Amino acid sequence: MTRSWLVTGGSRGIGRAVVDLVAAAGDCVAVLARSPVANGPAPPGQPGAGRVLAVKTDVTDPESVGDAVETVREEFGSVDVVVNCAGVHRGGRVEQLSRERWDEVVSTNLTGAFEVCRAAVPLLASGSAVVNVGAVVGLRGFPGDVAYGSAKAGLSGLTQVLAVELAARGVRVNLVVPGFVDTEMTASLSDRARDRVVDAIPAGRVGTATEIADVVVAVAGATYMTGATVPVDGGLMASFGGFAR
Ligand code: NAP
Repeated sequence: MTRSWLVTGGSRGIGRAVVDLVAAAGDCVAVLARSPVANGPAPPGQPGAGRVLAVKTDVTDPESVGDAVETVREEFGSVDVVVNCAGVHRGGRVEQLSRERWDEVVSTNLTGAFEVCRAAVPLLASGSAVVNVGAVVGLRGFPGDVAYGSAKAGLSGLTQVLAVELAARGVRVNLVVPGFVDTEMTASLSDRARDRVVDAIPAGRVGTATEIADVVVAVAGATYMTGATVPVDGGLMASFGGFAR
């Protein structure tokens, strides 16, 4: 059966990997991001590929989110899976981080997901799912990530509250927690810092966007899973104090 997806942050990175995966499987997917993504089948011309609908959206703007969800309702009628993947990372320790940066991170990673859920709940029938994309640093203290870690911790809380609130409607809500993944978000890290991260990962390497997308899709289809936290981190969270191997 063809499903309809709404993926925020689907213009690149992990979100784009989810979009490519589900569209290639024949599902319809609305991509909500600020930069345009081509409408049409994806990958282009692949037989059986589903429809990709680009909806220019800023998740920090409730009006933009409301308009986007209304467009999705007009085009798809209902939504089977919402993936909250839009995110920004701004580093900084507590004494250095400006209020402006804090607000940017929280309004994108946490409030944005809340607004999308708030607007999309009426489109979610029984059997549908929400998958939020968290981060290891939202579940473990990491110096220099005061805003990002706090926002992702909030997303963990949002996931659990919504899992309970929406269970009666038959809607499941789960949190997928990537470790370190090669995307634009992590591209600016110095080689030295990157090597230190890799040293701390038991698997001995960073993850790919497709490896995270595979788990997002699996969690979306896991019919008895709700309120769960699912790490996809090469063992990062399981290891003790950075002693990887
Ligand atoms: P990315 O390549 O930088 O992609 C971020 C996505 O979020 C883009 O599609 C971007 O699209 C979208 N976005 C940002 N601000 C937005 C806004 N205000 N409104 C709408 N869309 C917005 O990063 P990524 O690594 O794929 O990250 C995806 C998710 O995984 C994020 O939630 C991130 O926190 C999480 N994560 C990543 C890692 C990692 O190591 N990469 C680790 C843990 C968790 P536009 O710029 O076009 O709007």
